[in-house]
Amino acid sequence: MDKIVIAVGGNALQRPGDKGTAKEQMKRAQETAESISWIFDNYQVALTHGNGPQVGMILLQNEQAKDIVPPMPLDVCGAESQGMIGYMLEQGFNNAIKSRKLNKDLITILTRVEVDENDPAFKNPTKPIGPFYTRFQAQEIIREKGWKMVEDSGRGWRRVVPSPEPMKIIEKDAIISLMDNGFIVIAVGGGGIPVIRRNGNLIGVEGVIDKDLGAATLGKDIGAKELIILTAVEKVYLNYGKENQVPIDSVNIKEIQEYYKQGHFKPGSMGPKILAAIKFISNGGRKVLITSPESLKDAFEEKNGTWIYP
Ligand code: ADP
Ligand code: MG
Repeated sequence: MDKIVIAVGGNALQRPGDKGTAKEQMKRAQETAESISWIFDNYQVALTHGNGPQVGMILLQNEQAKDIVPPMPLDVCGAESQGMIGYMLEQGFNNAIKSRKLNKDLITILTRVEVDENDPAFKNPTKPIGPFYTRFQAQEIIREKGWKMVEDSGRGWRRVVPSPEPMKIIEKDAIISLMDNGFIVIAVGGGGIPVIRRNGNLIGVEGVIDKDLGAATLGKDIGAKELIILTAVEKVYLNYGKENQVPIDSVNIKEIQEYYKQGHFKPGSMGPKILAAIKFISNGGRKVLITSPESLKDAFEEKNGTWIYP
């Protein structure tokens, strides 16, 4: 069986209006699994996921309790989020798989991803994370901790951290052997925990790897044939959200690069998915699909989704 990577988006665990309770997220995971678990019959699957809302919650808990328990650095919070989300996905997916009578188990791999210490992202933090602060609080934090803080679209001040390019999945051999032994592997959650290599040692750093780029790197490292990115839209569009928006059904890498340059894909949402698709295919991937969990089946019958080819 071919190996594939499926990256599930934030909507796999939380939908608009959800509070984000554990019970709710496990139910969302089960719904997602019910749409996509048929694919486990045909492929060896590695599942990756985002962690934005969940790690935001962990950071807020750390912040609120900082006088009682020592706050954990971002790499440790990232690890916490991988465990928490891995567990919730396992619970939700297990139920769905059982009802399909599939004899497959899920396992979560705490995943570190090597990044370059000299990545320009470390000099220019851009990724907003965690709670919002007032201007006054932000000034205090900048003075005390030296964090970079920015005003986030009128909603308050937020910490920004570097978003370095993922280079290598540290746990790749473990992931491959588990997949070869029939496990569905949940890995590279939240883009993975960024680590740098210094004198042979791995050191966790405070940053956030984009989850779609992390998924593309995983795909390359395990020799996956396809990358499937599941999100809140059925297809990728040109002129998205405008009156003249047009869906893309099928596109090659040269064409999509051109559309990217023309600014059709928003940074921070569709932009990184397109960059991930380009990266995966440039490294030998056969095809990339971007669609919603509900449309996955139709997409495989070429009735929905956006397919990207070399
Ligand atoms: P995820 O949690 O799955 O990564 P994101 O919100 O980061 O979700 O990215 C998916 C969103 O990107 C879509 O829900 C859509 O609102 C937005 N988007 C931006 N540009 C486009 C585009 N050109 N075509 C389709 N969706 C787009
Ligand atoms: Mg996203």
